[in-house]
Amino acid sequence: MSESWDVVVVGGGNAGFCAAQSAREQGARVLMLEKAPREWAGGNSYFTAGAMRIVHNGLDDVAELVEPFDTGCTDLDPYTAEDFLGDLRRVTGDRCDPELAGILVNRSRETMSWLRSLGLRFELMFHRQAYEVDGRFRFWGGLAVGVLGGGKGMIAGHLAAAQERGITVRFGAHVTDLLTTHGKVHGVLLSGGERIEARSVVLTSGGFEANPAMRSAYLGPGWDLALVRGTPFNTGEGITMALAAGAQPYGHFSGCHSVAWDAGARTTGDRDLTNQLTRGGYPFGIVVNTDGERFVDEGADFRNYTYAKYGAEILKQPGSRAVQVFDAKAAPLLRSEEYAAPGVTKVESDTVEGLAKELAIDEARLARTVGEFNAAVTGQRFNPAVKDGKHTEGISPAKSNWAQPLDTPPYSAFPVTCGITFTFGGLRIDDQCAVLDTAGRRIPGLFAAGELVGGLFYFNYPGGSGLTAGAVFGRRAGRAAVGGPLEGRSRLL
Ligand SMILES: Cc1cc2nc3c(=O)[nH]c(=O)nc-3n(C[C@H](O)[C@H](O)[C@H](O)COP(=O)(O)OP(=O)(O)OC[C@H]3O[C@@H](n4cnc5c(N)ncnc54)[C@H](O)[C@@H]3O)c2cc1C
Repeated sequence: MSESWDVVVVGGGNAGFCAAQSAREQGARVLMLEKAPREWAGGNSYFTAGAMRIVHNGLDDVAELVEPFDTGCTDLDPYTAEDFLGDLRRVTGDRCDPELAGILVNRSRETMSWLRSLGLRFELMFHRQAYEVDGRFRFWGGLAVGVLGGGKGMIAGHLAAAQERGITVRFGAHVTDLLTTHGKVHGVLLSGGERIEARSVVLTSGGFEANPAMRSAYLGPGWDLALVRGTPFNTGEGITMALAAGAQPYGHFSGCHSVAWDAGARTTGDRDLTNQLTRGGYPFGIVVNTDGERFVDEGADFRNYTYAKYGAEILKQPGSRAVQVFDAKAAPLLRSEEYAAPGVTKVESDTVEGLAKELAIDEARLARTVGEFNAAVTGQRFNPAVKDGKHTEGISPAKSNWAQPLDTPPYSAFPVTCGITFTFGGLRIDDQCAVLDTAGRRIPGLFAAGELVGGLFYFNYPGGSGLTAGAVFGRRAGRAAVGGPLEGRSRLL
């Protein structure tokens, strides 16, 4: 006889744990099925820096959420719903689904309080999101709060909370299909042939970023060669099985989140180093390809608004390689967990030509690029905590902010490639996280949240939105899966 549950959650990342918890709060008997073995618990959520973008009213408001800190020398501007929505619309070229975006933004703050009530702990991310200028720490880029202990801390917290509240988690449980009868979903099939019945199924099994065949089919040629930043288990099966059951594909299927990633990294994520293989310091230097030529505006915006689209720019370069180059002035601004971590691929020299030689880049070409860049820098005051407008003139691509001449040895160079984080296309859900079919009707018994939902992100992404989206929609999906009350329609929020 097959097992029977109120709610089965497929996928044990942040979205899955949030769905499981909110279903449990409604009194449901909840089973979480996770494909990975226990040693790989937490999906991509484990690999994160734990950064979470939320609406807040400034320092006093955030202080209620985070561990104690010194308020006296800290500047944090309020981040309003209009700010968050504006950032989402701007970076997605105004394509983000307005209903989903509204829910994400308007429920972000209270969802973090709810996560706290589950036992997760938060901190102000001084080490990642603030710079000290004139003796004060100033937060930048709309992102200030993170989970204590990053993704590792988040998953430890979720696992403890699940155990405490009686949620059953099965590792090594690979869901291969949905059980459907007359269009209603009533359970799942596991790879060994086991059938598990449920009143509702919530899919939270991530995108297809770890599936090279789907990457090249949807994202395009060359994407099969990108390195995967996170879990190897997000191979798109939740999306595939839901589409086969009639679900509507939605969002930017040829788009993804991808970043500058250590060129020496392995093909899928490293459980020890996790996010430390990211190279996010490029706004304070220049980025060249293996021909020694610049190809992006490194200072177009705060890193939080450019990093997720610059991986794709690196993928387009010869050999899908690039090099970030800094001088000694920039060194203190580089995050030590990324640039001084064990295993960092790095070259150092007292001259630009020396760097080029080590990197097998044409010496004269790199020296010319640096020389032209230095000559193009204008004279405003450099300030890393604001968009300082210190830019270049007369070169292409321009650098729009934080442009300082590279003139102070030693010079350092960090070879990077494209690291894919997650994919943007996925399933279409309504405001209650019910999965819609291709005619726009709900598929009875099927809900979804997290990375495998489409429609929120296009082309680019405001840093820290993925975990917040997973939490907001996961919480909502779990409650809706039990038929529990929702707070109201998103357009009223
Ligand atoms: C290196 C890195 C750093 C990041 N940093 C941040 C950050 O600081 N802030 C932020 O907001 N976002 C960050 N992200 C993005 C973030 O990880 C995702 O947006 C978020 O974790 C997605 O959560 P999820 O629950 O949807 O998916 P996941 O956490 O990936 O969980 C999906 C789970 O489903 C399981 N699964 C897959 N297929 C099946 C199947 N067939 N059967 C059963 N289980 C299955 C997988 O094993 C996995 O455990 C980062 C990502 C990476 C890789």
